[in-house]
Amino acid sequence: MADNPVYEIHDPRFRDLFVISAELEELYSGCRWAEGPVWFDDAGHLLFSDIPNQRILRWVEGGGVSVFRSPSNFANGHTRDRQGRLVSCEHGGRRVTRTEVDGTITVLADRHDGKRLNSPNDVVVHSDGSVWFSDPSYGIMSDYEGYKADEEQESRSIWRLDPGTGSLSVMASDFLQPNGLAFSPDERRLYVADSGASHAPEAPRHILVFDVAEGGRSLSKGRVFATIDKGVPDGMRVDMAGNVWSSAADGVHCFAPDGTLLGKILVPQVVSNLAFGGPRRNRLFITATKSLYSIYTATTGAQRP
Ligand code: MG
Repeated sequence: MADNPVYEIHDPRFRDLFVISAELEELYSGCRWAEGPVWFDDAGHLLFSDIPNQRILRWVEGGGVSVFRSPSNFANGHTRDRQGRLVSCEHGGRRVTRTEVDGTITVLADRHDGKRLNSPNDVVVHSDGSVWFSDPSYGIMSDYEGYKADEEQESRSIWRLDPGTGSLSVMASDFLQPNGLAFSPDERRLYVADSGASHAPEAPRHILVFDVAEGGRSLSKGRVFATIDKGVPDGMRVDMAGNVWSSAADGVHCFAPDGTLLGKILVPQVVSNLAFGGPRRNRLFITATKSLYSIYTATTGAQRP
């Protein structure tokens, strides 16, 4: 079996997770900063953001890429809620929105105690319907990925939007720049990337893990799960076995649930985010600087309870 230079194996367990003959495919190029991939199995398409170009793009197998929404209000990370609706972070409006089935946009969160959020970056939905998102300052640092403005919140936090009351609560705030986030398959853990080193070299470039407590209403025991050795962690996803697939400067890094680096998928541009998709959920879609890539894997994205 010949080695495939797209894979870097750090632990033998990685061999069970990739397909040796699978190649990295560039599906599209032409973004300024591609981010936020989210798969719609029912529609057979992938949506992703091109943040500085104010676009959400749609990729269809065999049909290429078209514009889904423009202007996008500098949309960044996306996910889907329990009903399958698109939930998006927008730098421009400093808010998290939901796109209804009829296409109208509902604001889920844009301020707390009268103060605006910084610039919501990435988002996940818990099986109880609560919406969890990160709120770093990237989208208000300049006019490139949003509108330059001052921070109003006291900290850069992970927030939880309660599905019943609509109230917004800080779940954790011990970050320089909270970024990608993902639950473990059993939702007992939440992983959060701190990409602070993107603008301050000595700052964190690690993934933290928290225990999810109080029936999904709080976090405890935050600790470092893994440190990224090339660049910073941005978006990430978890597979069915609980392995954590993180973005990094040299590609996608795959960590076992115990934090061991299993291996890497090397990508020629800086990776911002990723999502499992395709009809079998075994295809990894990767946004990386100007391009959208994909590669088939030997695992599948987590199907949470
Ligand atoms: Mg991000």
